Amino acid sequence: MATHSDTRLWHPFADMAVVRTGEFVIDRGEDVWLFDREGKRYLDASGSLWYANVGHGRQEIADAARAQMGKLETYSVFGDVANEPALELATQLCDLAPIQDARVFFTTGGGESIDTAAKLARAYWSAEGRPERVHLISREAGYHGTNGFGTSLGGIEANRAGFGPLVADTSIVPYGSLDALDQKIHELGPERVAAFFVEPVIGAGGVYPPPDGYMEGVAAICADHGVLLIVDSVICAFGRLGSWFAVERWSLEPDMIVFAKGVTSGYLPLGGVIVSPRVADPFWSEPGRSFRHGATYAGHATCCAAALANIEILDREELIPRGAELERPLLDALTPLVDHPLVSEVRGGTGLMAAVEIHPDAIGRGLTPAKVSAALRERGVIARGLARAVAYSPPLTITRELITELGETTRAALDAVLEDHPTFSPAPGAPAR
Ligand code: PLP
Repeated sequence: MATHSDTRLWHPFADMAVVRTGEFVIDRGEDVWLFDREGKRYLDASGSLWYANVGHGRQEIADAARAQMGKLETYSVFGDVANEPALELATQLCDLAPIQDARVFFTTGGGESIDTAAKLARAYWSAEGRPERVHLISREAGYHGTNGFGTSLGGIEANRAGFGPLVADTSIVPYGSLDALDQKIHELGPERVAAFFVEPVIGAGGVYPPPDGYMEGVAAICADHGVLLIVDSVICAFGRLGSWFAVERWSLEPDMIVFAKGVTSGYLPLGGVIVSPRVADPFWSEPGRSFRHGATYAGHATCCAAALANIEILDREELIPRGAELERPLLDALTPLVDHPLVSEVRGGTGLMAAVEIHPDAIGRGLTPAKVSAALRERGVIARGLARAVAYSPPLTITRELITELGETTRAALDAVLEDHPTFSPAPGAPAR
């Protein structure tokens, strides 16, 4: 396995005391395959960080970026300035979005888009003459990036700890309960609540699909109270759930949709917020008011050119529906693992994403998702070890045969981890999570 000694690279979310002499260096990618420096091949079952929707090594996207860089690498879109790829991408995304007469605000990634949406929600209410409507609600296990608002809205406790006070006027509710959301809005007073943030399927928090009726119920509760509905489709858009922006599945028309990742399939960094006319109007109809927010590389011409090439591939190769077509095969490949002593639950079935939850007793004994992920890597598969689960979100180009193999290789990896601890068995009747 490729390693590298004492690095200068500080890795995100990494225990650098361990990683500093034990990096895994990926050298090359081709469709669903990755190759390390020794040329060993791996199946990218996680799509890198849930984003390699069209797969790796697409020359067409590289050519589009190269051509744009040769012509104009970029120019800022602040004030009244624009560039052609940003304009074209804005038009295409708003045409594809399930929101009539939408606008798009570009950023350089998911977390920046979440912070944009949070500030825009508050700015909207302020512009409406309701500056006291600042409170933001999100969900347990939710992940919304690591910027200021995103950290404060995140529902994974470990990601919030140790940073001192987070953004004020934010609350977290249980992930699948409509009553809890409704109660929280009542408790705070709807007149103080700006917006609710929701991932269609929670990703980094462990792959939790919404319970039946949850997304529609959320939309109804938000509409009842006038609370803005902000859907974080950073993972779920661009085919992961079988449609362009994920919310089409429930026929929702949110006030904002946050996207990133799959918009370029990761070839260059780009994110943004699709904004409904309700939220845009106060800023677009009367002169004299600006949304004083934006990052230097918002609307970066080369990133937008890469996104346009990526969207062309998603469309031409009919990859968008595959997220829904392959959701059953992926769940079916992994579900038999529930009989394994290390596994407490398998989740998925809503889009091409799934998780194998490792039994809490096993984790308590050091048989962690990270160990299972390492055993998978030894067997030529890359899947993400989360806090309590191993997660899968392969490129939309993955075949059914490879999905079947994924289940088999995961069983072999679980067996190998268990073999190292032959005395382990979960306590009878132990809770699933
Ligand atoms: N929102 C969701 C649902 C995500 O999964 C992520 C990243 O994984 C983000 C926001 C943050 O995106 P980024 O890492 O591009 O800042």
